[in-house]
Amino acid sequence: MKQTLVSTAMIAIASLGFAQSKFAQLGQDLPTPNVYRTASGAPGHEYYQQKADYVIDVRLDDEKQRIDGKENITYTNNSPDALSYLWIQLDQNMRAKDSDSKKTSQMDITEGSNFGEIKRLHNDFDGGFKLMKVTDVDGKDLPYTVVKTMMRVDMPEPLKSGDSYSLKIEYWYNINDRMQIGGRSGFEYFEDEDNYLYTIAQFFPRMCVYNEVEGWQNKQFLGRGEFTLPFGDYTVNITVPDDHVVGSTGTLQNAQEILTPTQLERLDEARTSKKPVMIVSPKEAQKNEKGKPKGEKTWTYYAENVRDFAFASSRKFIWDAMGVDIEGKNILCMSYYPKEGNPLWEQYSTEVVAHTIRTYSKFTIPYQYPVAISVHTDRIGMEYPMICFNGGRPEADRTYSERTKYGMIGVIIHEVGHNFFPMIINSDERQWTWMDEGLNTFTQYLTEMEWDPDYPSRRGNPAKIVDYMKGDPAKISPIMTNSESIWQFGNNAYGKPATALNILRETILGRELFDFAFKTYAERWAYKHPTPADFFRTMEDASGVDLDWFWRGWFFTTDPVDISIDEVTQYRIDTKDPDKELAFDRAQEEAEPEFLGDIRNHETITSPVIKEKSELQDFYNKWDRYEATSYDRKQYQRYLEGLTDEEKEILGYDWKYYQMKFSNQGGLPMPIILEFVFEDGSKERHYIPAEIWKMDQEQVSKVFYSKKELKEVILDPNLQTADIDRSDNYWPNRTPMSRFELYKYGGRNGDRGERKNPMQKAKE
Ligand SMILES: [Zn+2]
Repeated sequence: MKQTLVSTAMIAIASLGFAQSKFAQLGQDLPTPNVYRTASGAPGHEYYQQKADYVIDVRLDDEKQRIDGKENITYTNNSPDALSYLWIQLDQNMRAKDSDSKKTSQMDITEGSNFGEIKRLHNDFDGGFKLMKVTDVDGKDLPYTVVKTMMRVDMPEPLKSGDSYSLKIEYWYNINDRMQIGGRSGFEYFEDEDNYLYTIAQFFPRMCVYNEVEGWQNKQFLGRGEFTLPFGDYTVNITVPDDHVVGSTGTLQNAQEILTPTQLERLDEARTSKKPVMIVSPKEAQKNEKGKPKGEKTWTYYAENVRDFAFASSRKFIWDAMGVDIEGKNILCMSYYPKEGNPLWEQYSTEVVAHTIRTYSKFTIPYQYPVAISVHTDRIGMEYPMICFNGGRPEADRTYSERTKYGMIGVIIHEVGHNFFPMIINSDERQWTWMDEGLNTFTQYLTEMEWDPDYPSRRGNPAKIVDYMKGDPAKISPIMTNSESIWQFGNNAYGKPATALNILRETILGRELFDFAFKTYAERWAYKHPTPADFFRTMEDASGVDLDWFWRGWFFTTDPVDISIDEVTQYRIDTKDPDKELAFDRAQEEAEPEFLGDIRNHETITSPVIKEKSELQDFYNKWDRYEATSYDRKQYQRYLEGLTDEEKEILGYDWKYYQMKFSNQGGLPMPIILEFVFEDGSKERHYIPAEIWKMDQEQVSKVFYSKKELKEVILDPNLQTADIDRSDNYWPNRTPMSRFELYKYGGRNGDRGERKNPMQKAKE
């Protein structure tokens, strides 16, 4: 019943000993199309998805750093199947003392071990959900079984197709110190002022996804493979100390009660403002963070058709906002950050949120949620519907490195971008990291380029993936690998798919076809649950181009791209004209280098026998093999008479023919992109589609012709293919120039001295 997409199918074939064509159709490697998912990659006519609606009361205890919650889940069974039990995710249990994530986490003690590693090893944090009650709406206990990070609730009677069922869960858990033991949510503690900044997520038991692809998604949460969640509507009442500011998924329902008239006015002004407006200014926030709460306040948020819910809360928050228009809808872009984030956050965060929403809306579907929020807390990047938590912190002296600046802008684009993948285009993160991270990193790259074409993007440019693609084939895995089993997570699930899609866009399909197909995928699967096959099929279906070889090479194998120019041979047509051709032969011979022994013999043997005895010479001692005879000329005339006019014309061509041989040393078939540089300085481009490798996947040859003399051939001159070895991309060979450094003391680190960022250096 599980997906057969993993490359085990291919490994099996390889081990049987026959090589599969790199151009074989994906066929059996993809699930069989059905009434739920069509062969064209669109939702089928019987496509369905489950719905989970939540009403949650949650209280944040700022004294004990703990969450107390009560939830009411209403689950609607839109599947054709009756369900005798429901599976619910208890992701906090990943932090429980006896969790499998702890038991299966690995560590190596090395000479370079650090405090963090040892702290995490000794960590005895009492995490995990403490379940108080699981009942029906009338308060009657429901039988349930906790299986690590999941819980099965048995239905009093099977939940029939089309029916809904409501249940209640009461629980609490301790919030983790994110800076000490990590986590996608938790708190950051500011010791000098005794304040906390909470970013809270996975804070309530959440329904698993049930569908025709996986049945119940029951892959346990081990900490890496993220989440698989159904859509639903949420009402969440968040009770916090009354001096806290809360940022959250959804729209604030009781703003009149919670916010001051001034704040409400500022929010109103922000909607149409061209730049961010302070709702809570830095000055006000600094005053707040010195105060003490007098009681509690409950912020009520409502969110429609979202797959999850998260919030942030602190008395430290500065809060700014700016409206952006997306196809007639005013979206409020907002940021919440402590003063420690400035000056970066007040200058960039909300502007970046707005830019991200605009750019992604152009490439995918228009953003329709009412808000988009970026929250700052140190060293993190994590996404939820409408809200995300991002790092990027300047130094205490308010300077920052270039890396911090672009890292901060990049992480905001990335995490806000996750609103589209996977929050709206709701793929199964637990199974496939690349479907959200890869597609999102690709769109992030496009968004960074529109922010600034010189943006130092980490991922997307083919040259940046080369080192990874060169990696040990025993260690790296295909993109089509389950989330928990990926080596080099960032390169595999973010970098490589983003690069592959960029190559597909720039080099294989072209921007117009690609953009249409990519948008079609987003439109088809917005607010639905796509699988890898739905993506592969839609991209082909909408572009009209068979891309099976591309998916196979880039997504199902670890082959790198390494095409080599093996040989360039120049030809012209033999005219058969003896005067011309014999002169050519003579020139050829004269151009040959002479053997040293022959040179010496001519110098030292001054009286050879044939010179001493001239009677020993005959015809051949005087014959010039390169001189045409009248016999040769007559033969030539006779040859010409036997030719048709057209043949004579071809014989007269003065084209130069260049035969080139290429080999595919990496294994991944790709187009052969060539630049010819001629003796006269002119250049010519040739693009040979990847299908040239369709018969022989190791070596191919191709003939080009020109009137001009070829001086140089460059393979992939604009770095489009991520070719891992460029030394064989030139004819004739090029010798690269490199350099080496000399150190006075102990190598690079010993010589470096005090480290300052360029802003600090500029101040001196
Ligand atoms: Zn991500």
